[in-house]
Amino acid sequence: ENKDQKFVYDFTEGNKDLKDLLGGKGANLAEMTNLGLPVPPGFTITTEACKVYLDSGEEPAALRDEVSAHLDALEQRMGKKLGQADDPLLVSVRSGAKFSMPGMMDTVLNIGLSDASVEGLAKQAGDERFAWDSYRRLIQMFGKTVLGVDGELFEDALEAAKEAKKVTVDTDLDAADLKKLVKQFKKTVKAETGRDFPQDPREQMDLAVRAVFDSWNGDRAKLYRRQERIPGDLGTAVNICSMVFGNLGPDSGTGVAFTRDPASGHQGVYGDYLQNAQGEDVVAGIRNTVALAELEQIDKTSYDQLMQIMETLETHYKDLCDIEFTIERGQLWMLQTRVGKRTAGAAFRIATQLVDQGLIDEAEALQRVTGAQLAQLMFPRFDENAKVEKIGRGIAASPGAAVGKAVFDSYTAVKWSRSGEKVILIRRETNPDDLDGMIAAEGILTSRGGKTSHAAVVARGMGKTCVCGAEELEVDTKRRRMTVNGTVIEEGDVVSIDGSTGKVYLGEVPVVPSPVVEYFEGRMHAGADDADELVAAVHRIMAYADRVRRLRVRANADNAEDALRARRFGAQGIGLCRTEHMFLGERREMVEKLILADTDEEREEALKVLLPLQKKDFVELFEAMDGLPVTVRLLDPPLHEFLPDITELSVRVALAEARKDHNENDLRLLQAVHRLHEQNPMLGLRGVRLGLVIPGLFTMQVRAIAEAAAERRNAKGDPRAEIMIPLVGTVQELEIVREEAEQVIAEVEAKTGVELKLALGTMIELPRAALTAGQIAEAAEFFSFGTNDLTQTVWGFSRDDVEASFFTAYLEKGIFGVSPFETIDKDGVGSLVRSAAEAGRATRPDLKLGVCGEHGGDPESVHFFHEVGLDYVSCSPFRIPVARLEAGRAAA
Ligand code: ADP
Ligand code: MG
Ligand code: MG
Repeated sequence: ENKDQKFVYDFTEGNKDLKDLLGGKGANLAEMTNLGLPVPPGFTITTEACKVYLDSGEEPAALRDEVSAHLDALEQRMGKKLGQADDPLLVSVRSGAKFSMPGMMDTVLNIGLSDASVEGLAKQAGDERFAWDSYRRLIQMFGKTVLGVDGELFEDALEAAKEAKKVTVDTDLDAADLKKLVKQFKKTVKAETGRDFPQDPREQMDLAVRAVFDSWNGDRAKLYRRQERIPGDLGTAVNICSMVFGNLGPDSGTGVAFTRDPASGHQGVYGDYLQNAQGEDVVAGIRNTVALAELEQIDKTSYDQLMQIMETLETHYKDLCDIEFTIERGQLWMLQTRVGKRTAGAAFRIATQLVDQGLIDEAEALQRVTGAQLAQLMFPRFDENAKVEKIGRGIAASPGAAVGKAVFDSYTAVKWSRSGEKVILIRRETNPDDLDGMIAAEGILTSRGGKTSHAAVVARGMGKTCVCGAEELEVDTKRRRMTVNGTVIEEGDVVSIDGSTGKVYLGEVPVVPSPVVEYFEGRMHAGADDADELVAAVHRIMAYADRVRRLRVRANADNAEDALRARRFGAQGIGLCRTEHMFLGERREMVEKLILADTDEEREEALKVLLPLQKKDFVELFEAMDGLPVTVRLLDPPLHEFLPDITELSVRVALAEARKDHNENDLRLLQAVHRLHEQNPMLGLRGVRLGLVIPGLFTMQVRAIAEAAAERRNAKGDPRAEIMIPLVGTVQELEIVREEAEQVIAEVEAKTGVELKLALGTMIELPRAALTAGQIAEAAEFFSFGTNDLTQTVWGFSRDDVEASFFTAYLEKGIFGVSPFETIDKDGVGSLVRSAAEAGRATRPDLKLGVCGEHGGDPESVHFFHEVGLDYVSCSPFRIPVARLEAGRAAA
């Protein structure tokens, strides 16, 4: 604690850039004050003071005097003292961290009222009812949030008072009723806390300030911070703001507003207003609010002034703002503003609208949208015009719109989906045993758990729609049904879940494709104007991004169809073409022959059959990607993946044996399966190791690539194949494969008379490869970082095993903010990428560098790859627009 440190700032001293110190609310109150807007005077206690308190358990020594000095100044300015008996100054004590956070302490209004000053307030205002209403609100809020009394005790008493009088709204209670209520509230406080409601105004204020500090470490706030990756040591600021009163009769009121529509971005008048009300009343739904536009009839002067202020704010913040205001007897007061939340679609629209208004430039427009928002716009969604029966709402854990029959256990999910049914797996919560069912289901719905629950984490990893923590659902697994507010949903009933909003519907809600995807696909959405407007905005933002980005974006695609789609989505090549699918289906038999081959002849025979099939695949792919690079990865997975399942085969052989029906081939297969069986396939015979021990395998693949390229060249095409060797750990492996490949390429060139210029490179996906990248670059023309495997090998865990088992616990304990398979672990895996890139380029300055793990489509990771100087990222076709946008944002 520094002696000269200043812990309190008057609203006139701060500004909007001081959010770290003054919190969001405080910084913006100061900004509005300095803009000359009507903000009730006040001051802010800094987050630094809170930090001292949290560290030491005591407020900083200087704080008390500093607060006193600011309070004196405020009192002087207002011409009355806090809680002064004949004419009290009242204040609100409002929490306000840098990020707004659920679980932080609520605001306490009307601090300064007491048995004595309530009379003074009544006299000054000429309104007894108002004074007692304010006092009962103070005791209620203070009792609940500062003293920890169960809020329902107050609410029930209020209800009872209304019932006794046979009225429905609080404004129908008169001064006498409220006086009685105050008495009752005070009794409740005494009974629940063993102490009297504090009558000393300064004590009220100090206790409230401390309660705000304490709420920083409340359970809910802590959980929220961990989930949202908000650092735990920021602390919160506290705002002390002189009260203005919206509950002084019909010429008073309180409201909330947006400077433009947060759903569409359209300019207009959006908000709600409530006459004769205070604070949260307007959002709490205690009485019916009116549309903000009606304020024009109620109080034209205030309305006009408010419109003026909203324009000032938009021009000043150059963005959509939301505001809170109060009108006290015809006088307008601004109580809060901030850059407002908006839907994903509105974010794109508003960014382009603001460019058109000349408020921001293109680079700034790129910062106003995110890849996550774009991704959200690309999911199919439920038809907005459909008639729906909403039955509940949970946490939007993994986006998408899923429809299916309700099933309540994993086994049924698998069984039904095998017979072609679409199912939604509904569980109280999921655990690793549910994995098969989760894979089989269209979507997952749980009644417990938050964003880091097992269901949420695994669903996101699989890209599957998930709604979790829908608490209204009572899931009864035993009876295979759930009950929601009286409605019973049996196994087999159709439900629809929206992973983008968390909403749960009964029955089948029709799904419509996203207009943004229609646009990327080149099928511009005709129809609703709304969609056209959105598409136009996305189009412009993507153009900005493409103009500024340095990173190129390629696709992971294995066949011509995916490649063409990727191209439509803007892919500038293929960064990863896996060849294993070319060994599946009908070709499996030939692969079995290859594996079972005892002699060179048998092996060559098998390879000879595979060669033309592979070649055909490549010709199609090179044609689809004509003129663009295509990186083909030679075979990577362990061979036993191509053989029958060990258990099934054993049973088959045993049954045949029993029937004395001897199948020679099955027996040999079984031997091979046993021979190739591995404890740790991920670390076993795969990648380059296969190429080195199965003679002719890699050379066959290289030949297929080379011949395909030659054929395309002869057809006047422009094939740009790159051959990639997976799982290299040392340069020696690469040198051997390289030599053999070069020989094959030379043969094909000689035979066809075409000069091929095929690039040869490697994946960097083992720590040893990253650590010896300088040597490896001697034999590689390009590196592609395989960050999926690199993450597995650097952390020493296998993704398939750990995501379902302990990641939830790790996320809950805050060991990860996010799965390292979702966003690259910059400090560990990322630092290897960085150093390997540097070492590789030191050896070979024109070394091409890319990444082909799933991180290539993750927003935060894309920024990292930009920063470490890679040339391109490669991701699944669907993520390409996201990667393009984020690459643009990183460069802008
Ligand atoms: P939150 O962060 O929950 O919005 P606020 O601090 O903004 O909490 O306050 C809650 C409600 O009380 C809001 O409606 C706000 O406008 C109102 N309010 C806060 N301070 C005052 C004040 N000094 N005078 C009148 N109303 C106030
Ligand atoms: Mg507020
Ligand atoms: Mg790999």
